[in-house]
Amino acid sequence: MTDPVYRRVVIKLSGEYLAGQQGFGIDQPTMDRVADDLIAARRLGCEVAVVIGGGNIFRGVEVSSRGVSRTTGDTMGMLATMMNCLALEATIERKGAAARTLSAFVMPEISELFTRTAAHKYLAEGRIIVLGGGTGNPYFTTDTTAVLRAAEIGAEAVLKATNVDGVYSADPKQDPSAKRFDRLTHSQAIEGGYKVMDATAFALARETSLPIIVFSIAEPGSIGAILRGTGHGTVVAG
Ligand code: UDP
Repeated sequence: MTDPVYRRVVIKLSGEYLAGQQGFGIDQPTMDRVADDLIAARRLGCEVAVVIGGGNIFRGVEVSSRGVSRTTGDTMGMLATMMNCLALEATIERKGAAARTLSAFVMPEISELFTRTAAHKYLAEGRIIVLGGGTGNPYFTTDTTAVLRAAEIGAEAVLKATNVDGVYSADPKQDPSAKRFDRLTHSQAIEGGYKVMDATAFALARETSLPIIVFSIAEPGSIGAILRGTGHGTVVAG
């Protein structure tokens, strides 16, 4: 078996992807497939932490114009990420692998609090750790969370799993002339204003010298391919 290119990674999954064709909530066949890919990645010998978004359930910014404050809306969005985490943890464990959800805020009946010590302990035990609640602060995204947690736990890369196979100059689904990049620096990604990830996430990755690999999760096995160095994605680094 080929050794993985990275020994420890944070994988960012968008909540939206988990909704599958139904467009809202959790599509269990999609969740099952993602869990299979994560378990296969773990079996390659890589330590795997997962950050999940909440866009399939709730996004704070969407309610902030409708009478609920942005901070309350963002708190609701962070709680939405927890639902996805619990569903992913349960799916991974049903398949016979070990997972552990760690939350950004205290909710002892539901999940242990994220600390670096807890994260390292569960990774060393071979568990897939599932990190919920975003950063625990409003006005941030789960993309930024993925970079933050990667820096905190000493991951070697952030794998941003999305619907497209890399960073494009425009949305390739709307603009067929959009140019795909194989490689970008963090500064180029920020200056280009590419929508695939927010500028705060790229800026923190630049500050912490973390590579981000943007790739499509739609192809089964794509996480493993990125980890073996044979995948197809845009590398944002240096
Ligand atoms: N969120 C937040 N702080 C964080 C991370 C997330 O307030 O550190 C909230 C925010 O409202 C966001 C929602 O949680 O819209 C869901 O996260 P995100 O939009 O990143 O999910 P995704 O688009 O990846 O599904």
